[in-house]
Amino acid sequence: MTVRVRFAPSPTGFLHVGGARTALFNWLYARHEEGVFLLRIEDTDRARSSPELTQAILEGLDWLGMSVDEGPVFQADGVERHRRHALELLDRGAAYRCFCSTEELKARREEAQRVGSGFGYDGRCGRLAAEDALRRAEDGEPFALRVRIPQEDIGWDDLVHGPTSFPVGSVDDFVVLRSDGTPVYNLAVVSDDVEARITHVIRGDDHISNTPKQIVIYRALGFELPTFGHVPLILGSDGKRLSKRHGAMSVLAYREEGYLPSGMRNFLALLGWSPGDDREVFDDPDLIEAFRIERVLKKSAVFDLEKLAWLNGQHIAAASAADLRVLVLDSLQATAASEGHALADSHPTIASESERLLAVIDLVKTRPRTIPLLVAQVSPFFAHEVDYEQAAVDRFWKDASDAAQILRAVLVDLNGLGDWDEASIESVIRGLAARMEIGAGRVINPLRLALMGQGVSPGIFEVVELMERDRVAARIDSALGFLDAKASVE
Ligand code: GLU
Repeated sequence: MTVRVRFAPSPTGFLHVGGARTALFNWLYARHEEGVFLLRIEDTDRARSSPELTQAILEGLDWLGMSVDEGPVFQADGVERHRRHALELLDRGAAYRCFCSTEELKARREEAQRVGSGFGYDGRCGRLAAEDALRRAEDGEPFALRVRIPQEDIGWDDLVHGPTSFPVGSVDDFVVLRSDGTPVYNLAVVSDDVEARITHVIRGDDHISNTPKQIVIYRALGFELPTFGHVPLILGSDGKRLSKRHGAMSVLAYREEGYLPSGMRNFLALLGWSPGDDREVFDDPDLIEAFRIERVLKKSAVFDLEKLAWLNGQHIAAASAADLRVLVLDSLQATAASEGHALADSHPTIASESERLLAVIDLVKTRPRTIPLLVAQVSPFFAHEVDYEQAAVDRFWKDASDAAQILRAVLVDLNGLGDWDEASIESVIRGLAARMEIGAGRVINPLRLALMGQGVSPGIFEVVELMERDRVAARIDSALGFLDAKASVE
């Protein structure tokens, strides 16, 4: 049997974190089982669906690298078939005509509320004699089709929750075809899943209460049941259901913020699933290999932005410099464009010095957690000039004349250096600190700020080497200009 799963979003919103996680579990399951991943756009709610939102969902899946094997198929294209299935339920006696009007149902619901009892449909039209119901229909009285729920428990063996059962009496007879001829969601889903030969229905816990209704339809139409698996909700760190206040909801917002698709995938996969050992960082092949739907946890998952950032940092560190170069250049181009100048104006040699760019990326990539933070570390190696981060200035250039004195000495010693390599640079700087009888940090920190414009960087000796002699000298010169001005007002 080939596993066939589907992701079935309604295009009434963007691809949000919860939807993306459901899609990912389906996709991972399909890839692990060498099955088929189908995309179905559930667009029957015409008023709330839009082509733009469908497009945004496709873009989100595409960014996350979830390749779709079949589809997108559109639910609205199947309406005739949905209707046929509804009529077949009537033919088979599994559904009946319900003549109760919306107003009557509303009045009964209000009355039930008033007396404090629950309102479920009382099955009254199901007790009409068949000839009477037929006659009323033929006389033109409007009716809906309602499924008759069998008097028995309805259960299934859930992939995540194990044996799950709705006791007899807990599910009401429900409408499958409205009086205006439109099919309802629970019917459309079954009809579409049967049509697409879906073997495993993996979706959010919020659909659990739909499952018994859908099972009744499957059985009444004589279709084989798929295997169901309901994945737990995602909660914010405050234990409430995930919403906008916990962070961006659309996955594409994370692209804008500089997360890598592989980092996001890794993070989403761990929302409710764990491999059963202590591994956390996964590339795609490992994730596909390790993923078992049975290992999805029953309890809700907690959305932790800190974890996402950490995982993303791990993925940046593991990415190839060549792949990161594309993202770095795109980001710098976009900044230059937004500032109204060409990239070459701010970073004159970045396009031509590609070997050095790759070396710089390899040097700095182990630390940043997002692409903008990576860019901030790469940029000083090519930038015409750097701005100094205020917090770092307050910390490392607090005494401007002292910092200037140290940097002047560094400049003199580096100028006298023959071989421009990490080891020689290190011995010059350490030698200088020893001569001045100060700790190496008192030289390194002010120097780092002069070169990088910030208080963090990889090992300073490698930074100096890769920044190259002329640029290092120019940077220190600029820093001295800044420090002399600062000292004059202190
Ligand atoms: N369209 C439904 C949703 O977006 C999913 C239906 C299903 O997976 O069965 O929640």
